[in-house]
Amino acid sequence: MGVIRDIDKLNPEMAKRVRAFLEFCKKEKIGVCVIETLRTAGTQAAYYAQGRRPLAEVNALRQKAGLYQLTEKENLKKVTDATHSVHQDGGAIDLCPEIPGKADWPWWNAPMEKWEEIGLRGEEFGLDWCAGGYGKLWAKGWDNPHFEMPDPDDGGAA
Ligand SMILES: [Zn+2]
Repeated sequence: MGVIRDIDKLNPEMAKRVRAFLEFCKKEKIGVCVIETLRTAGTQAAYYAQGRRPLAEVNALRQKAGLYQLTEKENLKKVTDATHSVHQDGGAIDLCPEIPGKADWPWWNAPMEKWEEIGLRGEEFGLDWCAGGYGKLWAKGWDNPHFEMPDPDDGGAA
């Protein structure tokens, strides 16, 4: 258990798009790390509790879900507003720029251009980059890593 990073756990269409995008990144030498794919209900419950419930309670949920223990300071910050996430249905992936020269090391404080490069390129592969795709660039700065399948009601080809 713990954080799942396996692309095979995504729904088949999502997995197909993600694979094509990651292949492209590899070819173009765009450093990108897979942070999370499928999420269990237990993990989502632990994420939702963060910043809302006392530390002991949050850490009990995290332990049950196989996640590392948070500090008091980390528990000051909410990380999701969703009680049910698209990740639980295998329809979302979190990606982060990679520290140059450090394979698989997420570059959380990468400059905006790095996040945008991944976000906008990902959209070319049929992934909805929620930080930019909703037309509210950076309004949800903490969710820059998040990509999901485009909403079929958003227009585009039927
Ligand atoms: Zn996400």
